[in-house]
Amino acid sequence: MVTVEQAEQIINSQIRDYGNELVPFADSLGRVLAEDLFADRDFPPCNRSTMDGIGVSYSAFLNGNKVFNIIATIAAGSLPIEITEPNECVEIMTGAPLPESVDTIIRYEDVEINGGVATVLVEKVKQGQNIHVRGKDKRSGDIVAQAGQVITPSLIGIAASVGKTHLLVKKQPRVVVISTGDELVGVEETPTTYQIRRSNSHTVRAVLEQFKIKVDLLHINDNQTVIKEQLDDYLRKYDVLLLSGGVSMGKFDFVPDALEEAGVQCLFHKVQQRPGKPFWFGIQSDGQLVFAFPGNPVSTFLCLHRYFLPWLQLISKSKKAPGAKAILDREVTFTPNMQYFMQVRVEANDGGQLVASPLEGNGSGDFANLLESIAFMELPMEKTVFNKGEVYRIWPFKLII
Ligand code: AMP
Ligand code: MG
Repeated sequence: MVTVEQAEQIINSQIRDYGNELVPFADSLGRVLAEDLFADRDFPPCNRSTMDGIGVSYSAFLNGNKVFNIIATIAAGSLPIEITEPNECVEIMTGAPLPESVDTIIRYEDVEINGGVATVLVEKVKQGQNIHVRGKDKRSGDIVAQAGQVITPSLIGIAASVGKTHLLVKKQPRVVVISTGDELVGVEETPTTYQIRRSNSHTVRAVLEQFKIKVDLLHINDNQTVIKEQLDDYLRKYDVLLLSGGVSMGKFDFVPDALEEAGVQCLFHKVQQRPGKPFWFGIQSDGQLVFAFPGNPVSTFLCLHRYFLPWLQLISKSKKAPGAKAILDREVTFTPNMQYFMQVRVEANDGGQLVASPLEGNGSGDFANLLESIAFMELPMEKTVFNKGEVYRIWPFKLII
């Protein structure tokens, strides 16, 4: 048996690089960027107006000129048109290029236009106002996005702006999710009183889809020979096997033996935690990793979020997530000598701090509670009483805000 910290350390020392691949930028949401992106030109590429209004030469205004003849209108995307006399101006739209002879924009709200003549209504005009200067945001060649970050909608916008039609992203491991158990039947089937529909693999797949990992779903019955044969096959085809069920002390829990028969070396079996104590983790000679989670749906769910996802984040971004914490809103007692992962609701208080409320009801084994809760709160093994106001690590599985 290992502690949660030891289990985490053993898993996180299994760093893997599955390589990179090029994907169309529009399909890259949620992937991890594997290249730096550079500005292919200055941003903005020319001096341009940030307001709809008129463009003048400031020196004319300084000399007391407040009435200007409009000689042209410059739209965004069109060529700039120069003024040649101090009493001339152009009408100019937001985003339109600035003629060299214009250095100040006065917005429409501050002028009156009548019969092709603009009269400035305000006293104060600043030289250079309402102009977005060429290269102010980025210079050609500057880094606009660094490798190692998750691609968000705003990063997709940046990629579009610099003309990157394809992005180099981290390849994901090939993952298979395998449920075990004779009592399990397919979702579409009608179970007898003694059977249940298998749900774990679907939950795991849904979680991994959020991380853009496409998985195959498989099921094996509780038969050691069959499990071993199937594992041989899957270990050839996949980088990571996520199993659920069959890792406890029961007469039909064949998974650990079958895994070892298939040549997977056990790095730990059993973690001092609740839920998820029988968790088994191992490695095959070619580096394939096997996470064998206990079948209890809450156990599988917890182990996936507490161990697999942080490992995934570590290998793709080469850094550990900082991790959120929350304030416990009432006293909790937990006496077993185990790290307790308690389901909690989490909300921000008026001071902007995260506050966690433990979920009442049927306890942490209740899968339906996962709908109500937002995170697991990790309560340290060394204590039995956790006081109101104490702060502990949380493992969110939904967006907190
Ligand atoms: P096990 O870890 O195989 O002893 O399973 C523990 C409990 O979780 C048993 O009640 C199983 O029926 C249940 N269970 C195992 N696998 C699944 C699954 N894929 N979906 C839903 N429940 C499961
Ligand atoms: Mg079972």
